[in-house]
Amino acid sequence: MGKKKVHRIIFCLLCILLVTGLSGCKKNTMVENSFQNQSSSSTKENGQMQEEEQKKEGEHKQEEEQKQKEEQKLDKEQKLDDEQEQDHQESELEQTKESNEEKNQTKQKQEEQNEQNEQEYESYTGEIPHIFIHALIANPEIKDSNGLMRYDADCITVKEFENLLEELYNNGYSLIDINKTFYTTKKGKMKTAKSIQVPKGRKPLIFSVDDVVYDVKKRGNGMVDFLAIDEKKQIVSGTYQEDGSVLYSSENEFVPILEKFIEKHPEFSTNGARMTLCMTGFTGVFGYRTDRNYEGDREEEIKKAKKVANRLKELGYTFACHSYGHYDCTKHTKKSLKTDLQHFQEEVKPIIGDTTIFVYPYGKLIKPEDERYQVLLDYDYRVFCSVSNFFYLRDYEEGHSIYMTRVAIDGYSLRNYKTVLAPVIDVDHVIER
Ligand SMILES: [Zn+2]
Repeated sequence: MGKKKVHRIIFCLLCILLVTGLSGCKKNTMVENSFQNQSSSSTKENGQMQEEEQKKEGEHKQEEEQKQKEEQKLDKEQKLDDEQEQDHQESELEQTKESNEEKNQTKQKQEEQNEQNEQEYESYTGEIPHIFIHALIANPEIKDSNGLMRYDADCITVKEFENLLEELYNNGYSLIDINKTFYTTKKGKMKTAKSIQVPKGRKPLIFSVDDVVYDVKKRGNGMVDFLAIDEKKQIVSGTYQEDGSVLYSSENEFVPILEKFIEKHPEFSTNGARMTLCMTGFTGVFGYRTDRNYEGDREEEIKKAKKVANRLKELGYTFACHSYGHYDCTKHTKKSLKTDLQHFQEEVKPIIGDTTIFVYPYGKLIKPEDERYQVLLDYDYRVFCSVSNFFYLRDYEEGHSIYMTRVAIDGYSLRNYKTVLAPVIDVDHVIER
């Protein structure tokens, strides 16, 4: 319909309305006013009245035109929106294609790399177990008053760690990078990966180590005291001796032992993956006093810790936040949790780099419906690990995070969790005490 024709019809309709004295347009105050004016018109000249009416009709007409223009504009905008949405969808599709191409290229490169490593890879879609240990008992001969190793319940010995690696390897496991088990969608949703690459014929395993801190208070109780780098760029342990000297060793802590094991069995590592080290900050990291309470040369300590962290990253180790103070998170207030995470952000992340993984101290988890959960999300933690006696890995429909359980391998579990650990290891092949 032509614009002029529409205007003419509207004009005629308005005339009829005015004559019959019926307002069909409640919203139009101009028309309502014109009736009021009509009732009080006895005092006014007829000519004046007509003039006013004409003026108002003109105004009304203008309004209608304006309205129509706006409607047309809205129509246009809607169309534009639709087109943009379509464009967006198309560009997303394009991006997906591009990223798929990129992925294919990366995959191709990876495959070439794998060929060089003489390793063939395949997709795995089954369950992914996540086990964890603590730093090793380097000197099991050091006993407490009960005749037990000081960290008997929470830790395993060097020999048990060596047995454990053999057992895992013989049972077909290969280490994977925890960060490969999930991804973020374009809309920012966290999703678990549908499948994961593993060396052909093998099964994936996530392996983490808690409290890689070497608390000064634990000195002399059978553990090593710090990690260092030797002249061959290998990670070694350092232990303070009674005479004040330091004993360096590549035989008594998990990093050098694992490195030697992978050298012998390259297929135990998927694409160079190693363990995930769960860090706190209250007494520093790797045995260096990087914490704010240290009164010595803190800068020097930070420098040394950074060197160790960088070398570990080069080797394929990844990091997780295990909180700053190692408090039970369920006992934190929103405020104290925030302070704890802020300290970790300021003191530990500059050394280890960024991480989205949060490992609950004592496995005590905060559930998504808890208001403190948002504090963890605010600090960009997206993957939450608790402790359990079964393996479980999931994402949430809302897409805010990933949740996974871990099963401990320690003195206590080796003695008491034979069935729990049976899917992964036979404890009798590991325990030595
Ligand atoms: Zn811990």
